[in-house]
Amino acid sequence: MKPHGTEVHRALEAATGEAIGTAALADEYDIDLAVRAARKALDEGPWGRTTPTERAAVMRRFAAALTARASEASTLVSRENGMPIGLSEAFNGGAPAGLLEMYAAMVDGTDIESVRPAALGATIVRREPVGVVAAITPWNYPLALAMSKIAPALAMGCTVVLKPSPDTALDSYILADAADEAGLPAGVLNIVLAGRETGAALVSHPGVDKVAFTGSTAAGRIIGAECGRLIRRCTLELGGKSASIFLEDGDIDVFRAGLASSAFQNNSQTCATQARILAPRSRYDEVVDAVATYAAELVVGNPLDPAVTCGPMASERHLERVLGYIEAGRTSDARLVTGGGRPSSAGDRGWYVEPTVFADVDNKNVIAREEIFGPVIAVMPYDGEDDAIANDSNYGLAGSVWTADEDRGIEIARRVRTGTFGVNYYSTDLMAPFGGMKDSGIGREFGPEALENYTEYKSVYVSADRLPN
Ligand code: NAD
Repeated sequence: MKPHGTEVHRALEAATGEAIGTAALADEYDIDLAVRAARKALDEGPWGRTTPTERAAVMRRFAAALTARASEASTLVSRENGMPIGLSEAFNGGAPAGLLEMYAAMVDGTDIESVRPAALGATIVRREPVGVVAAITPWNYPLALAMSKIAPALAMGCTVVLKPSPDTALDSYILADAADEAGLPAGVLNIVLAGRETGAALVSHPGVDKVAFTGSTAAGRIIGAECGRLIRRCTLELGGKSASIFLEDGDIDVFRAGLASSAFQNNSQTCATQARILAPRSRYDEVVDAVATYAAELVVGNPLDPAVTCGPMASERHLERVLGYIEAGRTSDARLVTGGGRPSSAGDRGWYVEPTVFADVDNKNVIAREEIFGPVIAVMPYDGEDDAIANDSNYGLAGSVWTADEDRGIEIARRVRTGTFGVNYYSTDLMAPFGGMKDSGIGREFGPEALENYTEYKSVYVSADRLPN
């Protein structure tokens, strides 16, 4: 439907900077319409009265419609945000349909009520939908992150207003088409493309029951504060500055092979990027050399070329931000080992940056403390393992340890305060809870645990006659 808002967003291709489409942006009036539609579908419409099995059937049709568009969606997102095409096929092509299938299977055939004995009779415990969900997502894995909220929300019987980032505006049209083809009832999924000011109106709209936010810690603080004021449920999936800890007995080849996903996945535009690499002094030079040669050998170029392992940054603004951090590193005491600017081959088209490695970085340095969200890695020596494990960072999203002794690795995993942690590899498992400690957020997405985000419990006290025989 045509929005009331008159602002038009020009979508630019990350690899060329050229226009690839336009998207009409919503204004506060459109947000209000979307929330009202979601409210109506929940309170009056069919969705609020569906059984989990009926919802699972709709979700499976939605998954099939997305699968039919998987190739189109993955190509488009690669053009929008620079994600290498193979990765985009997994996260924007396969994952959204996979998540719908997964949550449909979890609720299909389940009962929303259970009865348990109580002191004076029995209690019926009901799992009810949390209500209208405002889902606010970033540009780095747009369709997978949208679906990490939509799929468990629909499974629990919620309705959704999705506000994607304008930096990846165009792929949401594919999502909307698929939902339409699958026959989602009107008002169940509403997509409003808007910037942060209009997004703020969604967060505080009186018709919203829960905010599911993924994005920066700075925005998360504002959104969390508003939700606190309104006593509105919220989950916050925020930024990170995670560390890989290489131990004395680590296998350098295993570590090197793991860098693709631990440090450089999606041109390091990944919240779980381990942009701090901690190595013992006895192995320090070897680790610096492994990271630097790996970074220098990454193939920087157009993300649609399957041979490319590092695409451009998602926007010119983001490129400037990443280059600003590189400059901060260059003017500090840190030692630039490889990279350090724009690749000469890039010319002036596309938002490319050289994969960059700094060694001897002081942990107080801004490039060790702040999330850069681009291929800029800091390698730091440590003296005692306890220092490395203490993980002196405001964030607590991800991390990994590299050791010949997996038992020791698991022991370290138990001690580090992060939401996810890898032993000799790092790979997000969509079947398990994912999220952050400390400044990396509140709550977990993915896995069966995510259903809790969209559930309200109600206890109904009744007579003992209700107890099953
Ligand atoms: P961002 O915070 O700038 O924006 C994220 C989304 O929130 C966008 O849709 C934006 O328009 C909206 N927004 C921003 N301020 C808002 C406000 N006050 N009210 C309502 N909406 C608002 O983040 P970004 O640059 O799009 O994404 C990168 C960030 O996302 C990084 O910090 C990254 O670590 C984080 N991220 C976290 C996870 C996770 O699971 N923890 C996953 C992916 C990305």
